[in-house]
Amino acid sequence: MKIFIEAAVLTAESRTVTTAYRKKRPKRKPGSLQHCHCCGGQVPFCWTCRCSFAICQACMEENFWGMSCNGIIWQCPDCGQWNGFGNQ
Ligand SMILES: [Zn+2]
Ligand SMILES: [Zn+2]
Repeated sequence: MKIFIEAAVLTAESRTVTTAYRKKRPKRKPGSLQHCHCCGGQVPFCWTCRCSFAICQACMEENFWGMSCNGIIWQCPDCGQWNGFGNQ
């Protein structure tokens, strides 16, 4: 009986160690992906506004007609601020 309990404790301990080890190693580097506020996807690149609104390349192309009038600046649908395409 004693041996059985010790084995159970050992198993629980090794589980804790494994979990802690996993927590220390995130799958992706923090900041390597951005969250698109338009489609909700995780993408490597987003156009971002100063108000923290972010939109991915695909969504920008889809909504281009409604967000930009000249291809040089785009209007944030959240705060209405104009952002340049070039200064990202
Ligand atoms: Zn998107
Ligand atoms: Zn904004």
